[in-house]
Amino acid sequence: AVPLVVSVSTSISAKKGILIRNREAFERAKDVQVVVFDKTGTLTEGKFEVTDVIPLDEFEEGELIKYAATLESHSSHPIAQGIVEKAKELGIEFYDIEESKVLPGKGVQGIINGKEVFVVSPGFLKEKGLWKDDERVNKVLEQGKTVVFLLIDGRLAGALALADRIRPESREAVKRLHEMGIKAYMLTGDNAKVAKWVAEELGLDGFFAEVLPHQKSEKVQELQKEGLIVAMVGDGINDAPALIQADVGIAIGAGTDVAIESADIILVKNDPRDVITAIHLARATYGKMV
Ligand code: ADP
Ligand code: MG
Repeated sequence: AVPLVVSVSTSISAKKGILIRNREAFERAKDVQVVVFDKTGTLTEGKFEVTDVIPLDEFEEGELIKYAATLESHSSHPIAQGIVEKAKELGIEFYDIEESKVLPGKGVQGIINGKEVFVVSPGFLKEKGLWKDDERVNKVLEQGKTVVFLLIDGRLAGALALADRIRPESREAVKRLHEMGIKAYMLTGDNAKVAKWVAEELGLDGFFAEVLPHQKSEKVQELQKEGLIVAMVGDGINDAPALIQADVGIAIGAGTDVAIESADIILVKNDPRDVITAIHLARATYGKMV
């Protein structure tokens, strides 16, 4: 039988929008020393808006958006949604797409008009030796924007800058963790400049950027090897292995099914402050001095 105090507490937590899937992990939550947050969709709203279109070759802006949006219409990534939205806003029609494929943590690839097209991360460009320093690109990076690049037939055609918003609740979540003596880290596949900007805005204790999906759980493990008890908070398919690796895996409710199924605790309201509520509840339930 479930001890009375535990069942009472889990029904209280359900009322607060905190669903406990794994009781042992919930108990471990009372001792958490580090909370690692995914960036996009967890600390930020995960709604990207295209703010700049930067031609880097002969293609003009509308053409760049048309190629990028056509390719992204086959992806469900928040970046893809932002690019498709921009094309619709501008009344740009899409090309027919012949083939397309997702490159997890890197971007998308496809064939349009017989041309091989990519929309990819700065990391992918560097990996392929295609990175060129450009003042306009550096400027949007300095502004803390997410930047993706369009490659058409092996040529660097242009860059798109996108802005996401930090959730207002994230600031308070970090502050309250600090008051409890718990560190707050961030993990993201996005570029290091965006990550640094968000980390500074929120006063995070550290971050890992340009982390490929399969490396996310390794970062959690690195912290655990330092002897720390780690909670991971995420929403994406990419976060699932890290949620499993963490001592306490926490998914936010609007997350993908895979994230939710991999988590020990689910925050129904998508509010990062509920991480603190969950830790408080665990402490109250399992008798740790608060
Ligand atoms: P996050 O950790 O923020 O969830 P991902 O691992 O999903 O990030 O993606 C990492 C990076 O890969 C993005 O910042 C972007 O540069 C690139 N990327 C991923 N998916 C796409 C896409 N559909 N279109 C363009 N770029 C993408
Ligand atoms: Mg995410």
